[in-house]
Amino acid sequence: MKLLDAILKRNRTDRPLGSAPSLHVEELAGSLPLAVVACIDPRVNRFLPGAFGLPDTQVIWIRNAGGVVSNPLGDTMRSLAVACTLEGAREIVIVGHTDCRVALMDGFAHGARNDDDPDFVPSSDCPRIRIDERRVVASSVAVARRSPLIDTSIPVHGLLMNIVDGSLACLANGYERSLDTAGEAGDSSLSRESGEDVVKRQAPDGAVGVELIDQAKGWLARLKAEPGTTLKKTVLDVGRASAIGLRELAQLIDHHRTYHVIGIDDKEYGPIPGYKLVKWLMEDRITAETPVRPDGEGWQPLGKVLKEIAKRQVGVTPEMEAAAGKVARAVKEES
Ligand SMILES: [Zn+2]
Repeated sequence: MKLLDAILKRNRTDRPLGSAPSLHVEELAGSLPLAVVACIDPRVNRFLPGAFGLPDTQVIWIRNAGGVVSNPLGDTMRSLAVACTLEGAREIVIVGHTDCRVALMDGFAHGARNDDDPDFVPSSDCPRIRIDERRVVASSVAVARRSPLIDTSIPVHGLLMNIVDGSLACLANGYERSLDTAGEAGDSSLSRESGEDVVKRQAPDGAVGVELIDQAKGWLARLKAEPGTTLKKTVLDVGRASAIGLRELAQLIDHHRTYHVIGIDDKEYGPIPGYKLVKWLMEDRITAETPVRPDGEGWQPLGKVLKEIAKRQVGVTPEMEAAAGKVARAVKEES
């Protein structure tokens, strides 16, 4: 049994969650020690390390406000890198918890993103951040997975701890590199990116969009030219293409156009320039579901607007889309 499965099974069955370790360390030695990023909330203490069932000596604790990883090159990520390279951690768990007061502080969990931003808009002037501990964990897992500081072979898991009884829910399984979310632009936050991709994503305006379009064109051209011959590989590529996240698609937004949006507070904001729309997306102030109205057009969910832009720019025809869908289904059935 793999480490994460053993931790979750033990967490489900072993009640009450005492502090005595009960997992067989020898059997799990290949996955230990485990590096854990957790919140500083003192209420979490009574479940550490009991909830994980591991002895103290096998867990490297990294704690900060919120248990957040907000920057792929930031302090927490560097601690994780040291945990892996010097202390030999073989797997990483990012554990959030319910009723996290840090997550309730608008902008705090995302503060690192705004520190060096002269353009920072106070939250009263833009839609407030959606407060959801699950989202904070998912976002931290995504950041850690795409960080160039740790090897991509190290599984990064995301868990949510119930602050009342210490029970753990699995939000992201680091052993799986699932293509299940392919096609859902809004839900690819857990896909893994290479360090190279991060660098590309952080490249100056424009460069990334052009690169993305070229890649997508290449994938689609291959799909058209070689039906059946390299099915599996092509579909993996197509899967990856469609798993390109909302944030990547946002690079295609026209910065000179203006937009109106309706925030989760049901207030209408705008007109705002395209670059601000991208910024709000990066700050989780808006999501794939946020109603957006580009000037001169009607209201549509942001995810749909972005997908349409991408399709237009890549020149995807309905026939190509249908072919990609057919191949994806065939491979899913086969595996
Ligand atoms: Zn907390």
